[in-house]
Amino acid sequence: MTSQRTRVRMIDRLRKQNIMDEVVLTAMNSIPRHIFVEEILASRAYDDVALPINFGQTISSPFIVARMSELLRAGSDLGKILEIGTGCGYQTALLAQFAQEVYSMERIGPLLARTRTRLRELRLNNVRLKHADGLRGLPEAAPFDGIIMTGATMHVPSTLLAQLAIGGRMVFPKGSQEQNLCVIERNSDGYVEATLDEVKFVPILSGTIKD
Ligand code: SAH
Repeated sequence: MTSQRTRVRMIDRLRKQNIMDEVVLTAMNSIPRHIFVEEILASRAYDDVALPINFGQTISSPFIVARMSELLRAGSDLGKILEIGTGCGYQTALLAQFAQEVYSMERIGPLLARTRTRLRELRLNNVRLKHADGLRGLPEAAPFDGIIMTGATMHVPSTLLAQLAIGGRMVFPKGSQEQNLCVIERNSDGYVEATLDEVKFVPILSGTIKD
């Protein structure tokens, strides 16, 4: 149920769902998704569903993770990326396959502690995890070629957008009750926003939880 064959079936399904970026599909074929959920849910890890990961949070479905990765990559390899909402770290591990450097921020301390152990076991040496409020971004590591936020928000703070490199893009779910994937691209004149697929994410919240 958690074998390579199950993963291959997930990739076949993603292709049928119109995910076409081979780099994303290869990364999803190589990272075992079942190790990111509780053992009791491992047999459902490759189904096309979001699953609970404790602390009231969820791991996004394979399709959503693939879709956001494809939008972030937009066909080319990435340099430095900021992820807001590390959660269980599955998206983080994928980003580490096709970006040079990944910074990932999580507001819930105990959730991040578990994820840290898991990602260490995968020996991803281009990932830096940070327990902090991601809405502030990470000015000390900016500018970023891409920013991905894995929780929904109505509004992206200008301090965060300012950390996007010119030519970079940010992908996130925008809204509260009704949400859509949103891509903001920064060019030399400013920011260009596009609204895409309807989605359902947990909200981005401000502040941090220690333990
Ligand atoms: N990509 C993750 C998604 C987890 S759900 C996964 O696949 O597991 C969204 C995550 O964003 C949660 O872990 C939540 O705690 C975190 N989050 C919410 N608001 C945040 C903020 N302001 N800064 C950092 N992380 C935040």
